[in-house]
Amino acid sequence: MTHALLPGHPHFSYRDDVLFAEGVSLPALAQQFATPLFVYSKAAMLTALAAYQRGFAGRNAQICYAMKANSSLGVLQVFAQAGCGFDIVSGGELARVLAAGGQADKVIFSGVGKTPAEMRQALSAGIGCFNVESEAELDVLSEVALTMGLRAPVSIRVNPNVDPKTHPYISTGLKDNKFGVAHEDTLRIYRHAASLAGLKVVGIDCHIGSQITDTTPYLDAMDRVLDLVDSIEAAGMVLEHIDFGGGLGINYNNDTPPQADALWAQLLARIDARGYGHKKLMIEPGRSLVGNAGVCLTEVLYVKPGEHKNFCIVNAAMNDLPRPAMYQAFHAIVPLQPAKPSATEARYDVVGPVCESGDWIGRDRNLRVAAGDLLAVMSAGAYCMSMASNYNTRGRAAEVLVDGDQVHLIRERETATDQMRGEHLIGR
Ligand code: PLP
Repeated sequence: MTHALLPGHPHFSYRDDVLFAEGVSLPALAQQFATPLFVYSKAAMLTALAAYQRGFAGRNAQICYAMKANSSLGVLQVFAQAGCGFDIVSGGELARVLAAGGQADKVIFSGVGKTPAEMRQALSAGIGCFNVESEAELDVLSEVALTMGLRAPVSIRVNPNVDPKTHPYISTGLKDNKFGVAHEDTLRIYRHAASLAGLKVVGIDCHIGSQITDTTPYLDAMDRVLDLVDSIEAAGMVLEHIDFGGGLGINYNNDTPPQADALWAQLLARIDARGYGHKKLMIEPGRSLVGNAGVCLTEVLYVKPGEHKNFCIVNAAMNDLPRPAMYQAFHAIVPLQPAKPSATEARYDVVGPVCESGDWIGRDRNLRVAAGDLLAVMSAGAYCMSMASNYNTRGRAAEVLVDGDQVHLIRERETATDQMRGEHLIGR
């Protein structure tokens, strides 16, 4: 049997020219569960997690999976069982963590627009920390906590004004971004937080963006955060932890991000050199834990040659895989098995059935395809299903998690009835 690994996707490989996830044939899964179908490799998730765990060996550190990347219960369960905490951004995400068996005290709550109801929900559950993003939010959180007879543990998200050199839609640590508080206002806002009776200041937090493939912005941001730790502690406030967010990129298209352990060796050296090696560290990785652990299987519906462009029309669309339409993101697209003799080799735009010109999944791809062929859209574990919509009343895809030779259906395909649940006609 021939065996060929896919570069960047160690748990996906061709066996005799058929694509497998771990020990499971992907064409067989497509046959069993139909397409579009998301397939995740548990081993790939745990391997990605292990790189962080190696990086933090011997340290007091908490890895909080940023579940916005993929919030399906079966995925959350993998990380909960591996001891992770969770970075959440809504009350709905908290409900998912608890349903998946995650521990509330390992949850950190980020986001610029937490509502009082979400604050109450999180305080009743006993979450570990609120990452507060504005002065106004501090006041509201303190009031909510006081009405419950509690003190809310808080970190303030600081904006280090460092360019992460990524797509503008996924940079978050620049002055113009809505996230965090400005570097120069930080000390004043910490003093304000410490004066509020309903709050307990426990940490500092920063997150500069996503799909970061260069180490320099991380090192610069760490220096700036540590400068703030100096001034906050000099003013008499002791910080128990430093939360450095997420953002590490993955290989989508010959990208070469640092390995998590190598990156953290450099960051920890900075922290140690500044005398903060004893502090608890928190991180919030999302994409780097799940992005390359998932693929989306899709079937070619039609091949449509054109004067200027050839289109390969597949049954997955922007509602399943929103990243290309949102920010021109790249996903590799590969066949699941050898092409049929009738297949035509050409350069194609791979597009879905949604009625938008923005509904494309890959542009100018050299493929040998015929109707009925199966393709895998790679690197589809992060920010795909969690961003999926029902646009064009398309049901969201099913999801399968593979563990060795075992297959777990972790989400059933959504039906039109599922989508209409809760809607009402207005009568006659
Ligand atoms: N933490 C915060 C506050 C975020 O906003 C995000 C993503 O936007 C993350 C963590 C996860 O980022 P990534 O998936 O790039 O690791």
